[in-house]
Amino acid sequence: MSWSRVEGVIGAENLALLARKRVVVIGLGSGGGLVALSLAMSGVGRFVLIDDDVLEEGNVVRHVADRRYLGQPKAQAVAELIRQRNPNAEVETHIGRIEQHMDALEQVDLLVVAVDGENAKYVINQAALDRHLPAVYAGVYERGEGGDAVVIYPYDGPCYACWAAELRDEHAVTANPGQELDYGMIGPTGTLEAEPGLWLHVTRVATVQAHLVLNELLKGTDVYEPMPANTVILANSALEIITGQITPPHSAVWVTIERDPDCLVCGSQLRHEQALQDAPLSLTDLVDATGIVMQDEDED
Ligand SMILES: [Zn+2]
Repeated sequence: MSWSRVEGVIGAENLALLARKRVVVIGLGSGGGLVALSLAMSGVGRFVLIDDDVLEEGNVVRHVADRRYLGQPKAQAVAELIRQRNPNAEVETHIGRIEQHMDALEQVDLLVVAVDGENAKYVINQAALDRHLPAVYAGVYERGEGGDAVVIYPYDGPCYACWAAELRDEHAVTANPGQELDYGMIGPTGTLEAEPGLWLHVTRVATVQAHLVLNELLKGTDVYEPMPANTVILANSALEIITGQITPPHSAVWVTIERDPDCLVCGSQLRHEQALQDAPLSLTDLVDATGIVMQDEDED
């Protein structure tokens, strides 16, 4: 394996740094699979892959793993692809839902959240806050017309619950002017309302997510690039991201979502009350706080 091309871009020292970084990728569907593989191809050396799903015929047109991996857990298929690119990579796989593998979140540098289900994202959010882990989330909009990615720093800016309350509920994104589309809305199954887009739509969002992860892992080095805001909204098609303004296809808008000081998850009052009661926050509290309808979810 020659890493000279990567080394030429980020430098030998930074490449060595990436090789020591350990990231957890939760959700190895079309987005997460590509993010994990792209990070491996950029020099990240240690992975924890968590997914509860098996690769099926219907997944193959939108997944980094092809028919050779049919019937295998997606986490194992992606692990194999990573090893094919970088035999030195350390890859650990956990088959199951995140709730069953919380112990896999110890001694890691960053979380990559690539699950569809909002329920799982709330569980991950709490785990990331508890462990003071930065996390990069991404979501693809209905029919692949766009997507977004956000970097969440524990107790510095919004947590995922603050962020979702702002972006998933109130800021409706309208695609194709004249046509009503309320992306951001959470469907009755607790996942983003999605007729999932094409592979091309998903990969555009996933590569941005991967790039944000890579940049975050390189924080403190000479190649780290500060981002203009915490959230990027990508338009695959023409999208009305900001009211009255059409964002052309293949462009993006950066927005800053602020922390909600009264957030039930990361707000100071809650932490104070929790300290008094020593009681963990229930999912019901969260649902009440965000107004999101949550049921059992079905991951891609
Ligand atoms: Zn919060």
